[in-house]
Amino acid sequence: MNITLEHAQQLDKKDELSRFKQEFYFPGNQLYMDGNSLGLMSKRSEDTLNKLMDSWKSKGIDGWTEGDEPWFTYSEQLSQRIAPMVGAKGHEVMVTGSITTNIHQMLATLFHPTAEKNVIVVDELNFPSDIYAVESHLRLRGLDPDMAMRKVKSDDGYTLTLAAIEEMLTEDVAILMLPSVLYRSGQLLNIERITEMAHSKGILVGFDLAHSIGAVPHELHNQKVDFAIWCHYKYMNSGPGGSGGLFIHERHHHELPGLAGWFGSDKTKQFDMTHDFTKASGAGAYQIGTPNLFSTAPLSGSIEMFEEAGMKDVRLKSLALTKYLRDLIQSEIDSYGFVDVTPLIDEERGGHIALAHPEAARICKALKQANVVPDFRSPDIIRLAPVSFYSSFEDVWEMVQRLKKIMVEETYKNFSNERNVVA
Ligand SMILES: *Cc1c(COP(=O)(O)O)cnc(C)c1O
Repeated sequence: MNITLEHAQQLDKKDELSRFKQEFYFPGNQLYMDGNSLGLMSKRSEDTLNKLMDSWKSKGIDGWTEGDEPWFTYSEQLSQRIAPMVGAKGHEVMVTGSITTNIHQMLATLFHPTAEKNVIVVDELNFPSDIYAVESHLRLRGLDPDMAMRKVKSDDGYTLTLAAIEEMLTEDVAILMLPSVLYRSGQLLNIERITEMAHSKGILVGFDLAHSIGAVPHELHNQKVDFAIWCHYKYMNSGPGGSGGLFIHERHHHELPGLAGWFGSDKTKQFDMTHDFTKASGAGAYQIGTPNLFSTAPLSGSIEMFEEAGMKDVRLKSLALTKYLRDLIQSEIDSYGFVDVTPLIDEERGGHIALAHPEAARICKALKQANVVPDFRSPDIIRLAPVSFYSSFEDVWEMVQRLKKIMVEETYKNFSNERNVVA
């Protein structure tokens, strides 16, 4: 392992994606390692948001139908561009809602419980919102979550094994819903294998792509995944609360939306204003009301960069950055008690490295003071996400130097080991 600054700079020189960094804003010149929670703002996203504001200013209500990007089909146009990011056909993807509302929509649409088959399997490491959504959905259907929701167990508290997942796939299970990448450890699950396993038992499969879209390429259509949901404000850099997305495989497009609204209508019929719902033919049917256009417009600018760079190269750089990061940590601060809990091999890791440490909360505070933005996940995880579009190898090198200084000089002891309200 070459731990010199010169080596980091050489890696940057060879990096084809380095040209994108200048297009981003870096608040307070921070070393930003938190793109897996909230991606940074780019000039292109700023431009497309400004363009939307201008269309409102100059067109008023005519903005729905006039101009180069009429609002009436804005989300549909964007969905065509997002589809390749997840390996879907254009009509299988819709930019809409949030992860949590899209889970509700997908369950309302695809979960058809019977007396024999009414269980939803999740995992014990998943993000709370996904669990809350499933529980409340089961209650709405008159089912008791204690009976009808089961969790795949983790052996080590950080990762899931295929064997543990398979064990849960019993005859009474209707739906299996898992994350593509686990939000704490960064483990990337084998979507293809899991989907095959579930389908062989007649179980539908959904994936939450929150921590993979924009970091890891997907093949949802070919792998026959039934549904997926995600947000765009993490690796896709669409801004806080940016509209999310859903994928529903075309073989399910006959399903009426469980939660219907007029924006799920066939667009040629929507303004007939009749009480007979004519659903759109593709994933657009699962929209509900008027799209949140101001929360959608920044995505139009940020997706351009993915189109130019190609997801393959974005993933290759991300893997190189995270490998470099973990190798540096091992060489430079191995003796300070960090446990790297992210799976070792490329095929099993998403876009971030997770370090477990008993003093994680206050090490993160010390990093912030050193102008590094990490991300803390209770109780003991530091997540570090160098991002292909705006992190350089030199940034990673510099961040590790600052972390080393904090450990050597024990400056983290100046802080309490409690988490902040938003961590
Ligand atoms: C970020 C994230 C969420 C957040 O859901 P929203 O509805 O967008 O607030 C949910 N689930 C997972 C796994 C996440 O990583």
